[in-house]
Amino acid sequence: MELSRKNLGIAASLTLEIDAKAKRMKSQGMDIIGFGAGEPDFATPSYIIEAAKEALDKGYTRYTPSSGIIELRQSICHKLLRDNKVSYEPNEILVSNGAKHSLYNIFQAILNPGDEVIIPLPYWVSYPEMVKMADGIPVFVDTLEEENFGMNLDNLKEAITSRTKAIIINSPNNPSGCVYSREQLEGIAQLALEHNFFIVSDEIYEELLYEGAQHLSVASLDPQVRDITLLVNGMSKAYAMTGWRIGYTAGNSKIIDVMANIQSHATSNPNSIAQYASLAALNGPKDIIKDMVSQFDSRRRFMVDRINSIDGISCTTPQGAFYVMMNINDILNRMHNGRVLGGSLDFADALLESKNVAVVPGIAFGADGYVRLSYATSKENIEEGLNRIESFVKELI
Ligand code: PMP
Ligand code: GLU
Repeated sequence: MELSRKNLGIAASLTLEIDAKAKRMKSQGMDIIGFGAGEPDFATPSYIIEAAKEALDKGYTRYTPSSGIIELRQSICHKLLRDNKVSYEPNEILVSNGAKHSLYNIFQAILNPGDEVIIPLPYWVSYPEMVKMADGIPVFVDTLEEENFGMNLDNLKEAITSRTKAIIINSPNNPSGCVYSREQLEGIAQLALEHNFFIVSDEIYEELLYEGAQHLSVASLDPQVRDITLLVNGMSKAYAMTGWRIGYTAGNSKIIDVMANIQSHATSNPNSIAQYASLAALNGPKDIIKDMVSQFDSRRRFMVDRINSIDGISCTTPQGAFYVMMNINDILNRMHNGRVLGGSLDFADALLESKNVAVVPGIAFGADGYVRLSYATSKENIEEGLNRIESFVKELI
């Protein structure tokens, strides 16, 4: 029997696939260095684990309101006002099963067939697929490595049509590490107001900033911008809670209501225990995040310097998140062990096979001249992995 034509065209998440493959090879005893992981390598802080245990002991094991417990939605409002200078009421918050689910709900709620969604390149792997799952059309906008992959407003203007329904912005960015400036955000907001489209602002990496980079929520620019923005954030990256699956959206209650209705039929409430743990996370001390960021920072510096010391590959210095986009353009079409490296997939495959090093091919992010390395792994791994990359590059003919 024929399956859904639309969904047969949806590709599997390459980031998750590569991460799973590297973990599987490691568990089979292979000496794998994994740069694929898009998750902090730290344990969830103990005060959050304690809150989850307490929730179990108190018997918070039943259905909650589908949109999330009121205490958590209130705490999210408090966090958004405190950290992001933007004011929301609990009925403007929807808690979902991870920020990925929040984004999925957004596109289901706002798109009609043929609506266009602007996505800056390089993009996080799931954006175009989510847009397509909601019958939308992804429209890509180029950014330049020389401009640190920041939003180029002229390119953005060219991409806007009468069918533009939304733009996705992700700052700090996965995979480029770019952090948008106030000027760039104001430019995007002005175009969105002028041409009447939504801003989907994925702020999941907001805590992971380096060298004094500042995070600015586009919704905080002014009330009109707030009204067309859907702000997405979650617990995964800031609190090392990837497995707990809690994310949220803040936005105009008319849109939040549609998203909540969809969620109520698709998944009901997010996990009750994880919601109580998230409550503790948001209301807890922030020094644990600071420690994590300072470790990421020192790994970042090391990784950037080491890559740039190897002939043939290079990278710019990311300002946020925990990824480096390694430029492999100069070595493409050369040969390794008799195999031509025609693109980032070939590079990643050959590297994994010959040196046991897992990286994510840039093609997953619409940037075939790059591979993405995550520095959410120990300094020793980074050192060893880059030694292996250097010997791989030296073997190219
Ligand atoms: N947005 C971006 C840019 C991400 O990298 C991730 C990581 N998986 C997510 C959203 C989703 O995070 P989660 O579903 O774990 O909250
Ligand atoms: N966001 C992470 C990454 O880009 C985790 C994997 C995923 O959800 O795609 O690697």
